Amino acid sequence: MKKFSKSIGFYLIIIAIGVLIANYFMPHQTAEELTYSQFIDMVEAGDIKEVTIVGENLIRGELPDDQSFQIDIPGTIEKVEGILRDNDVDIITRPEPEPPWWTGLFAYLLPTVILIGAWIFIMNKMQGGGNKMMSFGKSKARLHDNEKKKVTFDDVANYEEVKEELVEVVEFLKSPDKFNKLGAKIPKGVLLVGPPGTGKTLMARAVAGEAGVPFFIISGSDFVEMFVGVGASRVRDLFEQGKENAPCIIFIDELDAVGRQRGAGVGGGHDEREQTLNQLLVEMDGFEANEGIILMAATNRPDVLDPALLRPGRFDRQVIVDKPDYKGRKGILEIHLKGKPTEDDVDTGVLARRTPGFTGADMENLANEAAILAARRGKESIGMLEFDDAIDRVIAGPQKKSRVISDKEQDIVSYHETGHALLGELLEDADPTHKVTIIPRGRAGGFTINLPQEDKSFITKSELLDKVTMLLGGRVAEEVFLDDISTGAQNDLERSTKIIRNMITDYGMSENLGPLTLGQKQNEQVFLGRDISRSRNYSEDVAALIDKEARAMVDACYEQARTVLTENRDMVEDMVAALKEHETLNKDDIKEIIGKYKPGFYDDEEAKTDSLEGDE
Ligand code: ADP
Ligand code: MG
Ligand code: ZN
Repeated sequence: MKKFSKSIGFYLIIIAIGVLIANYFMPHQTAEELTYSQFIDMVEAGDIKEVTIVGENLIRGELPDDQSFQIDIPGTIEKVEGILRDNDVDIITRPEPEPPWWTGLFAYLLPTVILIGAWIFIMNKMQGGGNKMMSFGKSKARLHDNEKKKVTFDDVANYEEVKEELVEVVEFLKSPDKFNKLGAKIPKGVLLVGPPGTGKTLMARAVAGEAGVPFFIISGSDFVEMFVGVGASRVRDLFEQGKENAPCIIFIDELDAVGRQRGAGVGGGHDEREQTLNQLLVEMDGFEANEGIILMAATNRPDVLDPALLRPGRFDRQVIVDKPDYKGRKGILEIHLKGKPTEDDVDTGVLARRTPGFTGADMENLANEAAILAARRGKESIGMLEFDDAIDRVIAGPQKKSRVISDKEQDIVSYHETGHALLGELLEDADPTHKVTIIPRGRAGGFTINLPQEDKSFITKSELLDKVTMLLGGRVAEEVFLDDISTGAQNDLERSTKIIRNMITDYGMSENLGPLTLGQKQNEQVFLGRDISRSRNYSEDVAALIDKEARAMVDACYEQARTVLTENRDMVEDMVAALKEHETLNKDDIKEIIGKYKPGFYDDEEAKTDSLEGDE
């Protein structure tokens, strides 16, 4: 198709040019042009026997040597007629000849043909020569070649959780009946979320390799063209292709290119992109989950996605693909060292230790740079020296995105997160700790996830206080164990301050100020911003009291955090060591550490934890 369309444009241009040239050079008549006086002389000499008068003032005839001639008569023909008669020349008259039918056609067609030819030519050029004529509205989805360079889950290190989620999708595509029989609905859309270079695209291709069904890959930016409406029709075409090939997977990489929140642009947003996004939403609603199309997408900016995309029935399953931890980095490095000869002293474990903060792409880069260095140094295999230099190169690399987290930084983050994590577990009314990690995510150096045990419609005062204590735990741990404090607690302080203030002014939970709500939220003034819209219906004295009370409550929480953490010094140190080693600790790891120092701590809580974790 590509060749064909290219040649159409090409031939049109050739034909047009040919016709032009022919037109220009081809004489209209092969007749000789005589001057008027030459003609009269010849008539009077009797050289001309017969002429044809064509139309008003053109005369044609033949010279004695059979050469034909023609002549334009100036003025009227009557005068010439007289001379012709006098010399016995036969006169034949004929009306003006019609130009052949096709000359008129040419006059109109030629410019059109040239224009079309030129247009096609330019379009071919503009699209890098790689595109089809009239293919604007067609999706650019590439059918993933399952035969060539097949990626399987074996090529993806780590990410067991992610794999588990995706294996389900693969199973559904392999045997949909198994799920349909039970009325189980598989998610329509799976969204992979994570920072760049963490292997989202790789995971999607692995799913394709495993599923054994057609797999369409398209990048979100392929929908974005300068012509309005093109993106929308590409989306339509993509889903048509999908339906024809069901069961299949459609993978939209870099979803944020099309999926950005509508109306967010300056000056009313971007029409074309909105149309494209709307079409995507329409198509997603347009097929049933059991039709055998699964939509996958990847993004590193879930925050900018239009909320409509994340509603149930669209991308209803989200899979977080985070930066790899120690074990992950080791695994990834090993995958990329396959087939590369390394010296005996090369220890992937040591290398993984030296590269906290590296993504999968960085680890691949590391393996490659080390190999390049070894080759440049004329070595037969890659040594530890090359890896060391390669780490520096990757850190200083062109993107400069990666950096290794320094030991000191790791120290601070480890104590900080341990403070949160242990308090979450040890405080009676705090939400238990689900996971704690020192791998940075976004602006946070690390994070602790605490999940409530059950859905609550009310929160009690002691729960709120324990939550504040838990939030302050990060800062407290830094202070107690490192004798210094960092900026890492900023967000914690913000959140705890807000909780305390709400407790006093909204929930009436302060002993000294009593069960009053202080200040009135004025909803009609929301546009002024939240702080302004709270009108103060209390005196300066009360305001001072609120501040004093808030301080007292925070101080109490801070003290409690300090007490708990200092009482459990060994436990803290143990968890910090474990965090530095594994970088991520899950529920079981945390319980193991605490259980070591507080045997039986979880015994009487068994019923409580069951609801979250299943068996224990
Ligand atoms: P993303 O799409 O998340 O930006 P990619 O899938 O393009 O990242 O990953 C870039 C490269 O990094 C991959 O081609 C792969 O070689 C390597 N990589 C990333 N994560 C992994 C992993 N978990 N296992 C093996 N290789 C990985
Ligand atoms: Mg990608
Ligand atoms: Zn914190």
